[in-house]
Amino acid sequence: MFVDSHCHIEDDETALRAGSAGVGGLLNAGKDLDEAQAQLLMCVRFDDLHRQNPLAPKMWTSVGVHPDSAPEKLNKIQVEDIVKAAQHPKVIAIGECGLDYHYGAEVKKEQQEMFARHVEASGMTGLPLMIHQREAEEDLLRILYDGVKKYGQLCGVIHCFTSNQQFADAVRELGFYISASGIVTFKSGADVAAVFQNYPIDKILIETDSPYLAPVPYRGKTNEPAFVLKTAEKIAQIRGLTIQEIERITTDNFFNLYSKAQR
Ligand SMILES: [Zn+2]
Repeated sequence: MFVDSHCHIEDDETALRAGSAGVGGLLNAGKDLDEAQAQLLMCVRFDDLHRQNPLAPKMWTSVGVHPDSAPEKLNKIQVEDIVKAAQHPKVIAIGECGLDYHYGAEVKKEQQEMFARHVEASGMTGLPLMIHQREAEEDLLRILYDGVKKYGQLCGVIHCFTSNQQFADAVRELGFYISASGIVTFKSGADVAAVFQNYPIDKILIETDSPYLAPVPYRGKTNEPAFVLKTAEKIAQIRGLTIQEIERITTDNFFNLYSKAQR
């Protein structure tokens, strides 16, 4: 089975279509702690569905505040709130969280403060960080290094990796994973795809980030987890491996990183 390691879905039909397409696991990523409860209920419901019908995918979620919401949540969400929300068995990651200077250049300090709280929560719970990063490499690494200094080690993934080789080398040094989205299938994504050519194969995940960023040949349509196979095909091609090998490797990688998830 394939796993979509990062999607945002709300309806059962989309999830069930993924299951029928061979995507047996979905990490339905949290963006805002306000919606965590609804996502948890959906995950629990899909456990029941999976017991009745093995084609229904398993689903997990994460808790965190997306950098877009960081300024608004700064006085509302503290480290303890994230840690507390992470206790549920279906929460397997801290995030998505991170820094986005493409859209939030005027609120860098607020974003940094909120991201640092997630790093703390990850250090305290041992749950992996699921990181969103755009045009903020230097500050992001600095905050991660601070966390490593305090907690000895951190784990996590740069989801929807779109950065350069230099940043890839730095996160590789930290032992972090990087995740490929539909962008690697775009003509304009050749530089990003090249990073996946050399990154350690046991540290690569695949995702859709649906409903955004549908891979070729679905580009421009609403993305959905079933389409993660197109990203898997591209990674297989880049690495000179079969799609079955990429399926096995990326699924093993997912459960290695997210060890709280029951396979
Ligand atoms: Zn996302």
